[in-house]
Amino acid sequence: MRGSRCRVESLRCKECAQEYPLEARFVCDNCFGPLEVAYDFSGLDAAETRRKIQAGPQTIWRYADFLPFERPPQTALAAGVTPLIKADRLAERLGLREVWVKNDAANPTHSFKDRVVTVAVAKARELGYDVVACASTGNLANSVAAHAAAAGLESYVFIPSDLEEQKILATGVYGTHLVAVRGSYDDVNRLCTELSFERDWAFVNVNVRPYYAEGSKTLGYEIAEQLGWELPDRVVVPIASGSLFTKVAQGFEEWLDIGLIKGDLPVMNGAQAAGCSPVARAFADDMSVCRPVRPDTIAKSLAIGDPADGPYALELARRSGGGIEAVCDDEIRDGIRLLAETTGIFTETAGGVTTAVLSRLAERGDIDPAERVVATITGEGLKTLDAVRGSFETYEIEPRADAFAEAVEGDRVVA
Ligand SMILES: *Cc1c(COP(=O)(O)O)cnc(C)c1O
Ligand SMILES: [Zn+2]
Repeated sequence: MRGSRCRVESLRCKECAQEYPLEARFVCDNCFGPLEVAYDFSGLDAAETRRKIQAGPQTIWRYADFLPFERPPQTALAAGVTPLIKADRLAERLGLREVWVKNDAANPTHSFKDRVVTVAVAKARELGYDVVACASTGNLANSVAAHAAAAGLESYVFIPSDLEEQKILATGVYGTHLVAVRGSYDDVNRLCTELSFERDWAFVNVNVRPYYAEGSKTLGYEIAEQLGWELPDRVVVPIASGSLFTKVAQGFEEWLDIGLIKGDLPVMNGAQAAGCSPVARAFADDMSVCRPVRPDTIAKSLAIGDPADGPYALELARRSGGGIEAVCDDEIRDGIRLLAETTGIFTETAGGVTTAVLSRLAERGDIDPAERVVATITGEGLKTLDAVRGSFETYEIEPRADAFAEAVEGDRVVA
């Protein structure tokens, strides 16, 4: 029967296409490939789907037909429908015609991670879990702790012990079990993978990762919807594990396939920090897999040395005519300042990476001035304050008008 909605069919191995039931599993028993959610969108009518989306809630659940649930779940904390801002002053500085900033810092815990966590936590509840957990580079910690608190679930959050203080404080406040691990994110992730086999918990980015990853598609849907059901020519997305980068494009492709939007897949540019750039390096070296690295960068939210979706990110960058760039810490700081000074948006280091890559592509002449470009700003500047410390001057004066004039305006006051 052709209904007016899609069917969530199964979990499917991205490598060998083996199918599995929709449970908490993430790796293929045959080939150890990663699993993803498989759908049948053939029952969706484009015009009707569009009307349904437009009549939907101002959250990611307006895209419920493209998410892994039979019916939209009730979630206590929302996510999504963040501003897409036309950044004319930024475009002008870069010599481009049309630049848009997708400001995902406007989510409840101030990063795009609320999109993936709201989906993962809803799925964890549906599967009957009472405890949620995660291995985090920072923003996931904030988000899991908050969404678990709102849903009344117990949570365990594992972070590298050298995380930014702001991210630690903005996680602990929600009343989670916060565990700082002496090691890199990759050590934390290995620990959580081990624990996921021993504890009956939903680790949002380990055993329920296939569902978690689906949340990132909504960033792509929103960009297309907010551009008036059109695609941009190019999108710049930061890469940690590579999941967001690949899922944004998957979102575009699903909508192209069902005829909800027209045109071609945008050129996809991935952005990494030079201090942790396994995917950018593999791209430059023409490799199809990444060699793991030990991270050393101020962009801690992107500091994954062994990125799970690296091969898929490489494939997407090549297939879309894009690329993957790496920028150094000083370029990241400049990127944060450039975005702040031209748009009024203060982003964290990951957004500095994205802006710096955009600026490099523009300078190098890779972007046709006629293009419509979207930069995805994934996190909030107040969480990585050290990145801007000392980058500007403060005047300290006595509370007198002449002191102000002298110090700030450089004016000698004539008595
Ligand atoms: C997690 C994160 C990303 C990218 O994550 P992926 O693992 O590549 O999906 C980008 N920006 C910020 C701010 C993040 O916290
Ligand atoms: Zn397989």
